Order: sequence, then structure tokens, then C-alpha cells
Amino acid sequence: MQYRCEDCRVDCNQAKHLLDVHHQNSVTMDNRRSNLRALCKTCHAARHPNWYEIDAQDRQKLQQMRAAQGLVRP
Ligand SMILES: [Zn+2]
Ligand SMILES: [Zn+2]
Repeated sequence: MQYRCEDCRVDCNQAKHLLDVHHQNSVTMDNRRSNLRALCKTCHAARHPNWYEIDAQDRQKLQQMRAAQGLVRP
């Protein structure tokens, strides 16, 4: 698996802890590839606004990485 967010395309190879695996159908036992999505913490938090809290430091780090990689968040 590539350490790249499938939403914003940020490359997390240098900071793998910033990348999560999201389960599309919310069933965490279902690990079929079609059900999995690699998401950086920012994008993952956006999928779970009710309970996912991203660390301010992690959010800032991801912003810096996106800028350094020429990616701009829509
Ligand atoms: Zn992302
Ligand atoms: Zn998730």
C-alpha cells in the first residue's frame, strides 16, 4: 500500500503516522481492499466530524507537507 492520501494526494511516506485507514462501510472487520481507503488525518477527520479529533500539530504538519508537495486543499 502506498502511503498517499486518496483524497488530497499528500504523500505520507516520511510521516506514516499521519495516514489512517478508513473503512468505507464503517465495518472495521471488513478489510477487503474495496472497503479500505488510505486517508491522511485531515481528510479522515472530515469523514467523521462527529467523533474524530485531529491533533493541531498533526493538522499543521499535514498542511506543510501538502504545500511542500505542491498540493492545495480545495
Ligand atoms: Zn488527505
Ligand atoms: Zn474512518
